[in-house]
Amino acid sequence: MIIIIGSGMAGLACAQRLAAAGLSPVVLDKGRGIGGRVATRRVGDLQFDHGAQYVNANGAGFAAELGRLSVEGWQDGRGRTHSVGVPGMSAIPKALGAGLDIRQGVQVTRLQQDGDGWRVEAGCAVLRAARVVVTVPAPQVAGLLGAGHPLVANLAPVRLAPCLTLMAAVAASAPFHRPAGCR
Ligand SMILES: Cc1cc2nc3c(=O)[nH]c(=O)nc-3n(C[C@H](O)[C@H](O)[C@H](O)COP(=O)(O)OP(=O)(O)OC[C@H]3O[C@@H](n4cnc5c(N)ncnc54)[C@H](O)[C@@H]3O)c2cc1C
Repeated sequence: MIIIIGSGMAGLACAQRLAAAGLSPVVLDKGRGIGGRVATRRVGDLQFDHGAQYVNANGAGFAAELGRLSVEGWQDGRGRTHSVGVPGMSAIPKALGAGLDIRQGVQVTRLQQDGDGWRVEAGCAVLRAARVVVTVPAPQVAGLLGAGHPLVANLAPVRLAPCLTLMAAVAASAPFHRPAGCR
């Protein structure tokens, strides 16, 4: 078994590639929904994309991937076009996760090498995997592998930039608009 920890864009993209290669990865996520930091929260009639507001494809592979997902091109005030999930950003991970074995509400608490494979602890449950892919934010990897693991030292230079998100509802039209010719 191959276990992928995290159903954000990284975990889902990895799982899709493995599935396309004929493998059957299992994706574990501690959250109630999939998508990680690509997320849409609904409050009454309102919805907020409180993680990534849009994505841009810098490579041909991701551009092709976006082409088959439910996205619209939105233009900002500087004339740049960005891809926004429809009806919300969470539509992107939902489409990426279609057909995959994703188990939500499973928080992995410890990862230990076990012979040729891995012992994956999730609370009281223990799973065994031949391969494990870890896609949790870098500072959280030490909590899974232990501070002495070589991967933790490799990840030490990674710094996450702090970010505040304001979810505001306004009566005026959104500051982005759909360019002519876009769906
Ligand atoms: C406010 C904000 C705005 C952003 N705006 C943009 C933007 O405009 N454009 C853009 O391209 N990017 C943007 N980003 C960045 C983008 O959202 C992230 O880079 C990307 O979503 C990260 O994906 P990931 O799969 O690497 O990690 P994540 O999305 O963080 O996924 C990790 C997953 O792992 C799960 N997890 C963590 N620990 C465990 C555990 N122990 N056990 C099980 N599951 C676990 C989490 O629940 C999560 O679902 C923004 C981010 C934020 C926060």
